[in-house]
Amino acid sequence: EEILETVRKEHELTPISFETWLKPLKVHSVIGNELTILVPSEQMGLEYINKKYKLPIKVAVAEFTGLTYEIVFILPEQAKQSEVFASPIKNEVVINAEKGNLNPKYTFDTFVVGGNNRFAHSASLAVAESPGEAYNPLFLYGGVGLGKTHLMHSIAHFILSKNPNAKVLYVTSEFFTNEVIEAIRNGNNTAMSKFREKYRNIDVLLIDDVQFIIGKESTQEEFFHTFNDLHGAKKQIILSSDKPPKEMETLEDRLRSRFEWGLIADIQSPDYETRMAILRKKEELDGYNVDDEVIQYIATNVKSNIRELEGALNKLIAHSRLEPENKEITVKMAENILQDLIYPDKPKEITPELIIETVAEHFGFKVSDLVSQKRNSEIVVPRQIAMYLCRDMTDAPLKKIGNLLGKRDHTTIIHGADKISKDIAVNETTKNVVETIKKKINPN
Ligand code: ADP
Ligand code: MG
Repeated sequence: EEILETVRKEHELTPISFETWLKPLKVHSVIGNELTILVPSEQMGLEYINKKYKLPIKVAVAEFTGLTYEIVFILPEQAKQSEVFASPIKNEVVINAEKGNLNPKYTFDTFVVGGNNRFAHSASLAVAESPGEAYNPLFLYGGVGLGKTHLMHSIAHFILSKNPNAKVLYVTSEFFTNEVIEAIRNGNNTAMSKFREKYRNIDVLLIDDVQFIIGKESTQEEFFHTFNDLHGAKKQIILSSDKPPKEMETLEDRLRSRFEWGLIADIQSPDYETRMAILRKKEELDGYNVDDEVIQYIATNVKSNIRELEGALNKLIAHSRLEPENKEITVKMAENILQDLIYPDKPKEITPELIIETVAEHFGFKVSDLVSQKRNSEIVVPRQIAMYLCRDMTDAPLKKIGNLLGKRDHTTIIHGADKISKDIAVNETTKNVVETIKKKINPN
């Protein structure tokens, strides 16, 4: 969902386009570097999706995971045939998962310790070393993207590496809630006792983002009993939330007091040194080689949240990989590519460069193609639209516009721009396309 949301935002899809094309897509499988996406029905137009959204999805996936996946779209019939080989992705599976739903990258080894998380880290390690004995429950809290899930998976990996037979269960509270609801809805005792058996038969229970359980009475009730049974049997419980128990307003008191039995540890936003260390670690782990100045630029400007910090680095890498010859990343490039992230409110200066990039992106071409000497019909009209918009929206001299658009002379620019301006007067489609691109260039 987050990946699709990124595509929606970056391409400013209208609600109807988003609902029609992207929303119905489902991840079918991830095998090696191939990400297969299920297109639920033929009517939706597999070909169209393939042509129009493959690259945007690929880029968004790369930004999100830091990995380059080949994107393959399939229809339900093909999905059935391949089921034998590929296991469908369940709700809970994290990309690249090895052990059920644990992300193999989230370990203590890859977790950078800084002033903001030192206490939470030590507490987590203590619990991992002596589950059920150190602190029970361990309650981790902190804002979005600060490392709670990473720490929880680290604990689970650590316990499993010491004792591969330990029954460790990591679930999001959403998943837990769904299971409770499912068991209740089935309405018979077997469904419920199956649920109870599953949850009470484990050694370590990790529930992530527990704030989503509160406010749902039946789930709180079931969770209360699960908690008591496990705690009574000295089984380790680890919870995470976006706030401490005392600030969770709709949490029942009996649960609140239990959450406070063990140890409560918070994670704060990282300081500059920790942000640098996290970026360097990521660079090392993923085998990137990014200029130190660029790393400093990111660490200076992306402050609040580690997911965004990593996202910024991933975004730069993804862009440089999509450029011909893996262009090296410079601070200038970083300023450009990250401006939305760093200055979300700043209006962009409208330059011919911005217009050309936006037009290329809108039609799914590379800038290098748009400004090339190619004359096939698919590219000629977008190029003329770029000519028209550069003339219409900026004060740049025609000579400059011509130079940027592949060293064309100014009469070519006038000719192309005029052609579009005439077409707009008679052709509704052209008019709409140009309007849409204009809005992308200048949203205000
Ligand atoms: P939360 O669960 O608190 O929202 P996550 O655990 O999902 O945050 O962390 C967001 C991203 O930041 C993850 O990719 C995680 O690996 C990374 N991250 C968070 N804290 C650290 C850290 N201290 N060292 C390295 N990576 C971190
Ligand atoms: Mg999380």
